Amino acid sequence: MRKLIEFRNIVKSFDNQVVLKGINLNVYENEFVTLLGPSGCGKSTLLRILGGFLQQDEGTVIFDGECIDNVPAYKREINTVFQRYALFPHLDVFDNIAFGLRIKKVAEDVIDQKVTRMLSLVNLDGYEHRNVTLLSGGQQQRVAIARALVNEPEVLLLDEPLGALDLKLRQEMQRELKRIQQEVGITFIYVTHDQEEALTMSDKIVVMRDGEIQQIGTPLEIYNEPANEYVARFIGESNIIDGVMVEDYKVKFDDKIFDCDDFGFKENEAVDVLIRPEDIKIVGRNGGLMKGEVKTVIFKGVHYELIVETISGASKTVTMHILAEHDTYNADVKERISANDFFVALEDVEFLDDFNLVARANAQAWDDEDSDLSIASINHNIENRVGSYSCTFKTQKNTEITIKVHVVDPEYVEDARKNIGISALDFFVTADEVKESMAISTDLKTWASAEAWNLQDDSEIEITEVKYDFDTDDIQEGSYEITFATKGREYKIETTTIHEEGDKVGLEFDRNDIHVMSKMVME
Ligand code: ADP
Ligand code: MG
Repeated sequence: MRKLIEFRNIVKSFDNQVVLKGINLNVYENEFVTLLGPSGCGKSTLLRILGGFLQQDEGTVIFDGECIDNVPAYKREINTVFQRYALFPHLDVFDNIAFGLRIKKVAEDVIDQKVTRMLSLVNLDGYEHRNVTLLSGGQQQRVAIARALVNEPEVLLLDEPLGALDLKLRQEMQRELKRIQQEVGITFIYVTHDQEEALTMSDKIVVMRDGEIQQIGTPLEIYNEPANEYVARFIGESNIIDGVMVEDYKVKFDDKIFDCDDFGFKENEAVDVLIRPEDIKIVGRNGGLMKGEVKTVIFKGVHYELIVETISGASKTVTMHILAEHDTYNADVKERISANDFFVALEDVEFLDDFNLVARANAQAWDDEDSDLSIASINHNIENRVGSYSCTFKTQKNTEITIKVHVVDPEYVEDARKNIGISALDFFVTADEVKESMAISTDLKTWASAEAWNLQDDSEIEITEVKYDFDTDDIQEGSYEITFATKGREYKIETTTIHEEGDKVGLEFDRNDIHVMSKMVME
């Protein structure tokens, strides 16, 4: 194949922000190349440089063996189709397509021949004299493509040309565009942020991120062998798991060593392991390479999507004490005050300033008109030792309430295998506080000071599950258990067989369904 275009180290900045960071890319004759990446990653900028509408700061563009950096746009053998294709509203379909040829003073009989051929190419035979403004979006886009192709460019640039069309029309036009490209046999450079579009149409996909190329490959290569986690996530549903490459052809994840086809990593290198949801098969609970429990089942029309947990998260259970209403009334000054006993961890005692005491005890005062009153003084004998202490809150007019503060040395749950620590404290609240909660899981976490962290680097781990079995609208005085848990190791699986939540299953996959990727370098 003949190399048609060569981007050499293209750098471009706008307002001191580097938008292209040294792009190197070859495009060959007759290729359908797609630039794929999220909005803002620099796709259009690269196209505009190739089209000659924008000058790069550094680097060179070679076209057909020659540097075209100083060739103006109109002299390049390149045409562009945009999402907003701006047809001339006062010209009919024929004249819109013929426009460029007329400017070049091509003979009318030749124009007639060429336009007719283009109309047939884009499936608009018989539309010559239609008013373009009355055409559907898809038909207008066909006219725009015909108008660009009639000039017989060597390259057609298409910048998200189908972005304005609805899904069904877009899919139809994708097939049309692919057919047109094969028929005219020229190079298409196509820009999209839609991975499905890229996978269905392209000979070659260029995955971009923040002005850099992450991977260049065929759709199959990009899908089956993504270079890194970014590409894998961009291109489709994936399970991406932390692993360790023990040695060539052996990778460890989920506490087990698996045979795989990957090699060339450093010994014990930390890696990302990819397994596609459609590559995992569900077998009986006694079989398979991994065992797990079905957590969720979602019907997706053709298949079911399951989440199977193979290793549970860390969890901690605490007791919530529901108190009776306990505000005290000071009849002399017509004031009420309320506060709750609470537990505090020994290591947090030093942070118990007045603000914190009021917040933790949820101390509040109000008068007969229901106006809030401020807490004017706080007295307590809390010490930096395990024990129970008193704390008294008072208003300006000496309406007061005394609560107990329990200083405890809580047992953290530390799971070295999962590398997680988790802690939470028992707590006291009133039934009304539970009933009035707008986001009960969040409030339960706050009341219990629930936290989880990575044992290695102390970073926070999200508590994703809050389990309880009381009815928030109808809670009574008493004690209730609440369990806080972090997310376990979960796999997403596509299957056509029926399973139920709670099913114990085995998971099976082939060694070539495992794909090992280098960890991405954090910026
Ligand atoms: P994409 O086509 O991938 O969505 P673009 O190439 O249009 O991304 O833009 C890349 C970045 O460059 C964006 O952050 C965008 O805001 C910025 N950018 C593009 N054109 C200009 C311009 N003319 N002036 C300033 N910033 C621009
Ligand atoms: Mg763009």
